[in-house]
Amino acid sequence: MATQIPAVFIGHGSPMNTLELNGFTEAWRSLGERLPRPRAILAISAHWYVPGTAVTSMATPRTIHDFSGFPPELFQVQYSAPGSPELAASVASLLSPVNVTSDDHAWGLDHGTWSVLAHMYPDANIPVVQLSIDSRLSIEEHFAIGQKLAPLTNDGVLILGSGNVVHNLSRINWAGGNTGFDWADRFDAHIASIMTSNPSHIVDAPHHGDWALSAPTPEHFLPLVYIAGVASAQHAPVTAFNYERTLGSLSMTSYIAHAA
Ligand code: ZN
Repeated sequence: MATQIPAVFIGHGSPMNTLELNGFTEAWRSLGERLPRPRAILAISAHWYVPGTAVTSMATPRTIHDFSGFPPELFQVQYSAPGSPELAASVASLLSPVNVTSDDHAWGLDHGTWSVLAHMYPDANIPVVQLSIDSRLSIEEHFAIGQKLAPLTNDGVLILGSGNVVHNLSRINWAGGNTGFDWADRFDAHIASIMTSNPSHIVDAPHHGDWALSAPTPEHFLPLVYIAGVASAQHAPVTAFNYERTLGSLSMTSYIAHAA
């Protein structure tokens, strides 16, 4: 029988976390050591937000350096995990009748995925597939996709959402250290209360008074909606970790939806 694997949402923060060892990345590393070893990983990254649903189906996905203004060491990072055309096909069939494009050349692994996996699975020997976030869908539709993906967690697949609950780069306070603005703290607490009590209420998040400042664009929030969908479908208890704000307007808060 295949191993049951918890689904995880990671608040990834700066790409520099790839190279840093800090409290957040230590928690990612410890999680990788603690979880049952997945046979494959399905990553839903904030950084593949496009009009359409696609899965990477190449046998050897390339490492994409989708940022600018960072030191050369970060551009040299290669996360050489294999892909899994077989998992890509399973995802497409689970999501039917949604039309899922099989992407064998355009994307690969972006830094939302590899900044985290470089700590969780530094040996890069577990196959990784990315699923795009369709920018045309409603939050309810993203949640429904998460629910449809839930059976993968019973089949040895780690579903990894990578984004940030609070992500407002225009409000960054470079002197902020690991603190948040009041609105960021409030929104993070609101989402933590939803995730740990009834994850299906995540679809109401845009009605919260601090949504506009916390998620001025939705792509960093949406990976959590997928994990909420998985947790809801599985009736899985959810716990938070790395529950912290940093630089005022980023939340590093992460969640684990325990296997039922
Ligand atoms: Zn990001």
